[in-house]
Formats: sequence, C-alpha cells, structure tokens
Amino acid sequence: MGAGFDRSAARSELAQPGKVHLVGAGPGDPELLTIRAARLIAAADVILHDELVTAEILAIAHPGARLVNVGKRSGAPSTGQDHIHRLLVEAARSGAMVVRLKGGDPFIFGRGGEEVEALRAEGVTVEIVPGITAALGCAAQAQLPLTFRNEAVQLTFLTAHRADAGELDYAPLAAPTTTLAVYMGKETAGSFSRKLIAAGRPADTPVAVIINGTRPDEKTLTGTLANLASLAAAAGKAPALIIVGEVVRHSAPWIDELRGQSETQNAA
Ligand code: SAH
Repeated sequence: MGAGFDRSAARSELAQPGKVHLVGAGPGDPELLTIRAARLIAAADVILHDELVTAEILAIAHPGARLVNVGKRSGAPSTGQDHIHRLLVEAARSGAMVVRLKGGDPFIFGRGGEEVEALRAEGVTVEIVPGITAALGCAAQAQLPLTFRNEAVQLTFLTAHRADAGELDYAPLAAPTTTLAVYMGKETAGSFSRKLIAAGRPADTPVAVIINGTRPDEKTLTGTLANLASLAAAAGKAPALIIVGEVVRHSAPWIDELRGQSETQNAA
C-alpha cells in the first residue's frame, strides 16, 4: 500500500514543520485508513503511535522514519501522558514532520483531547485527521447495523473501563431502543452487565463481543447480557468491543449461530 503514496509529493504538500498531525489509524485493517492518514504516515519523519496501531499500518511509514511506541496496554507499564506530551512538543520543535497515530479515532476514548490541549498550551499547531472508530469498524465487519428503524433509535458510545467506579449512569443505558457500543469493557463486563440488568435492561438482551475487529484474526461471539462476562473473557489480551442491543439479532454471527442450532436440532 505504501508504494501507492508518493512520499515527496505528500511531504511538499503536507509537511509543516513544527506542526503535530493527530491522526486516527482506524480499527486495524490498513484499507480502512483515510487517504489523508495514509499520506501523512508515508510522509512522516517521526511517528508516535499507540499499542493498538497494527504492524501493517506502520509498514506504510518511510523506512527512515522514527517510530516510537508510546502505547498503554492494560496491566503493563505505560508511557505517562505527560511524557507523551513532552515527546510531541520536542519532536515538533525539532522541525520534524510529526504524526501522532492513534487507534480508531483520536477523539473517541483516545485522550486526543488532552494532547491537543497540551500542545496548544505550548503554542504547537495541531491538525486532526479523523479515523474509523472501533465501534464502526467492528459493526461493519459483523454486519451489525447499529441503528435500525423503530428498534434502535439511539446509539451510545461508552467506556466501561471504570464501570466499577460508579461513573456511569445506567438508567438511560437501560432503554430498550438504545444500542450500546462499549469500549474497554472486557475486564469489567461482569459488573457492567449486572448493573445494567439492575437498571432494567432485560437479561436476555442480545450482545456481541467483537475481538480483533477488522483484523485477520477477528472473532465475534454472541449471547445475552446475562452471560456477557464469560463471552468477554474469551478475548484474553486482544482488543474487544461489546455491543448490547436488539440490533445484534440482525448481525451475521447471530444469524449463523441460530442456523447452526436449528441444523443440530434437525440432525438429532
Ligand atoms: N480511539 C479508539 C479507542 C481507544 S480505547 C477508537 O476510536 O476506536 C481502546 C478500546 O477500543 C479497546 O479496549 C476496545 O474496546 C476498542 N477497540 C479498538 N480497536 C479494536 C478492534 N480492532 N477490535 C475490537 N475492539 C477494538
């Protein structure tokens, strides 16, 4: 893919020394990058990227570019946010062409807002390039419509990272016509589903857990809110997105599973 992007043309057109390009890398499949993101990655001198950014996407970078992994993995030591801000400011001031590359979209649970504020405070100019956020990439791959006429008229993106900490207001999440796209919800899936059921969402509400969405090793598991924790546990260390709502019934994995069950019954 990298070969399709003319680095010198991109550099002369896009390169603005002293500026940081905050770029969304999408959910993993390099084909889901925006054209602008791919051109900036090919043109960059320095790329500070998250753990979630895949090797296939980093391969678009120029062989001479400096790639710095500033990623955070749950449980593992991570680069502090202040340190990331310092690295970005230093790289921008060195006159290099700097790309800050984040999984999905920089402004959806990606701390992009904090980075922009830190750069602004230092007088560094920033440009944002949006990316396909995990919920959209995962839903497309599973053929799962996030909204559906009459059935799902609201869509909420939320993080259950701190589901235990009492930060979420569960009452609006329990409305039957709301689809929930849950980021970072693997570890807290058990308490999240218990609280949602306690708030009135039926225990048999369909759910999907999409693991490694848009990547070659993608896997989608479907079930109900009552067994969400065991489905989520199957993700292990891989990124997983949880979708809760009636729309899951329209997804390809749900339909395949129903078909599989009726075939087993017919065979018996
Ligand atoms: N800014 C990113 C989200 C970062 S938070 C975005 O817009 O997508 C990280 C969480 O995103 C993960 O814990 C997981 O819930 C979700 N995620 C990111 N990439 C994913 C993928 N390829 N498949 C499934 N979930 C993914």
